[in-house]
Amino acid sequence: MITQTAVSYYGMGSVETAARDFAEMREHGCSTVILAVTEFDFDFWRPNIPLIVDAAHKSGLRVLLDPWGIGKYFGGEQVSLFLQNNVENRQVSALTGEKLPYACFNTNSFRDYFRRICLTLAAEAGADGFFWDEPHYAFPKSYASITGGAGEDWTCRCPVCMKKFHDYYGYEMPRVMNDDVKSFRRREALFILSDTSRLIKELNPGLEITCCVHATLNGYYVSEHRGYDDWDAVAACPWFDVFSTTIINWELPRAFFEQITRRTVEVARKHHKLSERWLMGYYRQPADFRQVDEVVDLYRGLGVDRLAAWTYRGGFGSVLAAPDALRLWDAIGGNYKRVLNQ
Ligand SMILES: [Zn+2]
Repeated sequence: MITQTAVSYYGMGSVETAARDFAEMREHGCSTVILAVTEFDFDFWRPNIPLIVDAAHKSGLRVLLDPWGIGKYFGGEQVSLFLQNNVENRQVSALTGEKLPYACFNTNSFRDYFRRICLTLAAEAGADGFFWDEPHYAFPKSYASITGGAGEDWTCRCPVCMKKFHDYYGYEMPRVMNDDVKSFRRREALFILSDTSRLIKELNPGLEITCCVHATLNGYYVSEHRGYDDWDAVAACPWFDVFSTTIINWELPRAFFEQITRRTVEVARKHHKLSERWLMGYYRQPADFRQVDEVVDLYRGLGVDRLAAWTYRGGFGSVLAAPDALRLWDAIGGNYKRVLNQ
């Protein structure tokens, strides 16, 4: 049974506007809002955040906070203050040695920065939990990828990662990815989320953590190396409550939706977590809107616990709006009302 229907939301500038939008979300069958909190929101609109959370609660919505695009470590289009204010502690290309516009989340500098944002929000905002949104290393499409071309470059070969690797394995971190590098990358990548989640729960055990990773096959022939591709290891983290996998473009084959969803539910259940699947509610729309109903039925039929869509009003007004954004929003809303707690 689908027990949660979520939609993401941008914009911390006006409590009154947010309250109106939350009422519209309720009319669209949403039970939860995922608030995209950018670095700028945290830095500038911080007084508004608890008021907006409160307005959402008054509308009857649960609230999850999404540290959206922070350090460009998480998915999202927002710009990063961390990258603006720090020229070091960036991910470094293994092949060219160039510093890249992505924070290295294995450095204490970024780990402290991220922890401070989350613990401050955990203490101040009054939300119901956090949503870890597509964490990843840069150059994720390594070797082969169903969602993009093959690539050989990878990150991170910054001085911090190189030293950690040498301390652990006793030799210099190679430029060509080997099994030690793969293990190292995954272990370090999980640490920042695991540790921050643990601290959040210590502060308030009632706060719920969803970890949403990229929806990739990661089979024998095809693997992506974003750092969170070992779903078992991610779902096993004791501080995560919900295992979620991200949006699949409507144009991809139904078999892909099915495989990703089966594996998501299987891995979540194995580790006694709730499962969540996403709907693409921005940028692209199905050629035939009945596909929204079919995918929702597929998710429900395969035992998914929660649905989520990016984003409010189909991204209307943004460069990533779906062509018929409001129609897509209505199609998702109709489905949410149809399946929530049914
Ligand atoms: Zn690094």
